[in-house]
Amino acid sequence: MGMLDIKSLSTSELKGWTESISHKPFRADQIQNWLFKGLVDSFDVMENVPVDLRDKLKYHFRIQSLEESNRLESTDGTIKFAFKTHDGHFIETVLIPARERFSVCVSTQIGCAMGCTFCRTATMGFIRNLETGEILEQIIRVKRLLAEQGADVTNIIFMGMGEPLQNLDNVHRACVTLHERKHLNMGAKRLTISTSGVVPKIFELIERETPCHLAVSLNGTNDEMRSKIMPVNRRWPMAELLGACDAYTQKTGNEVTFEYVMIQGITCTPQAAKELLKITQQRSCKVNAILINASENPAHLPPTQKEVDEFLDIVRAGEVKITMRTPRGRDILAACGQLAIKQKKVASC
Ligand code: SF4
Repeated sequence: MGMLDIKSLSTSELKGWTESISHKPFRADQIQNWLFKGLVDSFDVMENVPVDLRDKLKYHFRIQSLEESNRLESTDGTIKFAFKTHDGHFIETVLIPARERFSVCVSTQIGCAMGCTFCRTATMGFIRNLETGEILEQIIRVKRLLAEQGADVTNIIFMGMGEPLQNLDNVHRACVTLHERKHLNMGAKRLTISTSGVVPKIFELIERETPCHLAVSLNGTNDEMRSKIMPVNRRWPMAELLGACDAYTQKTGNEVTFEYVMIQGITCTPQAAKELLKITQQRSCKVNAILINASENPAHLPPTQKEVDEFLDIVRAGEVKITMRTPRGRDILAACGQLAIKQKKVASC
């Protein structure tokens, strides 16, 4: 087994480790300050940490897990990063600038097992979960880039490669570090976990009080429609999923965001609009609709503007909050559902 990424450790775990090698626990705070405030990529620059402790850190931990292998910039300013992991796989991370907002779409797994028919990541299959340090490092890399321009990451969306709730342990730990005031100090409302609908894990998220906002990729308004494009629905049908969403709202007082992909003749029809209205009118929620990407799947075409307008008119007549999201980074395959890298495994741990 390879070395552990130091960023994967919680403060109490790192304190335990420093104590185990006869150093004071406050050293853990100093180290994490360098990692999460200083955004450093070397133990050598940690000036206030004793040299013998730095040597031990180097011996026991990785401080960097990802190597940038490619960077593409869209005409709309979106930047897609490809990173090679320490064991030779590839993941993608997307920076989406919009006025004062700098959102980062983060991967949580290498590939994905969920098999949504409109998503390129699904074609990769599942390879492995990302470690907490690998999840955090995607954000740290983008923060370093933005810092050069005097800017900072404002929002994190766990909606890159993978189903975040199938890697809940590591995603939860990443959220805690992001939220922690003395680390990355990001408010829970600025951290969004988006799930395809892994119902038991939504309850676990509620139980753990993970500091985050919940988004659900609804993409269907009845079981028949949803099961066709999202196999997860056959395991946890809509009634169970919506029950979990209600439990989240009850427990946290927060509304759920429903992501809704518009596909001609499937999810974007007047009948679907009426059903969506029924689902959303009775709950505390908002809907983010987005056009399907012209993908390799010929069964999924984007609807016409007339069809979209008709859909939106029906939903809005019911006073449901629905936003038509502008797709970003389509020219560099960085938009929702477009992330996928042909895996060229070059090494293994
Ligand atoms: S949409 Fe999300 S959950 Fe579905 S296959 Fe793609 S990455 Fe996985």
